[in-house]
Amino acid sequence: MVNHAQSLTSGPAGRLARKLIAGNWKMNGSLAANEALVSALLSDLSREAAACEVAVCTPMPYLAQVAGMLGKHGAAITLGAQDVSAHAQGAYTGETSAAMLCDLGVSLVLVGHSERRQYHGETDAIVAAKAQAALQSGLRPIICLGETLEEREANHTHAVVERQLGVVLQALGAAAAGLIVAYEPIWAIGTGRTATPEQAQAVHASLRAQIYAASSVSAKPATLLYGGSMNAANAADLLSQADIDGGLIGGASLKATDFLTIIRAAGRAGAATLLAGASST
Ligand code: PEP
Repeated sequence: MVNHAQSLTSGPAGRLARKLIAGNWKMNGSLAANEALVSALLSDLSREAAACEVAVCTPMPYLAQVAGMLGKHGAAITLGAQDVSAHAQGAYTGETSAAMLCDLGVSLVLVGHSERRQYHGETDAIVAAKAQAALQSGLRPIICLGETLEEREANHTHAVVERQLGVVLQALGAAAAGLIVAYEPIWAIGTGRTATPEQAQAVHASLRAQIYAASSVSAKPATLLYGGSMNAANAADLLSQADIDGGLIGGASLKATDFLTIIRAAGRAGAATLLAGASST
């Protein structure tokens, strides 16, 4: 297990103050529902501009629709996808390449979400190959990882996430600089059961230390998101943790008011980090 104590200070490139809040719509939405949701987000976000980076990861068929809506509003919301092929092109029926996502204006992509690992057999090696394919096309991958309930109860959490991240760091080498990682305990996804801020912080600190220990990637700070039943009520506590740089939000990202409450909490937490940094220099 990586030494937690070194995590907050050992990164030479310092900490990120601007949080990232990404919505994972999963297999939800329709043309009409997306129109209503994105319009509601855009009308409120123009007032909150730049407080934190906001992204929505939509189902593939709706990327063009949402890209069209976002196009008229500058960069208030970053467009994300939920998966990418490890292959560049060819006979891979049903797959979507990184270049195709770029064509549609996508800039972020989830890689290795636990539902893809569980239902589609994605191994650590496949996740690493997808992350590589994304980066080669200029997409920012969000590497998702996390332990099952049995693994947590057996005290294997740190070993599991360290293994999952280690395979990706090894494959990416220097390209892992500035990596985005989402720690999503599987037992917390869609269950309403959230990791406590202390549980999440402990894993994030360990992941950050592991990234900094991979010396080739220390030039640019990593962004570490927490995911797993984050909602309007618990977001502020989670996002105020020292090593939580944002959130990956499933269910609560489908309701504009809830998602906006989380975004505001992230903005406040980011501002507090900035203030703390200014007063300590
Ligand atoms: C997710 O699917 O990434 C997720 C965090 O879902 P939820 O917020 O619904 O637990």
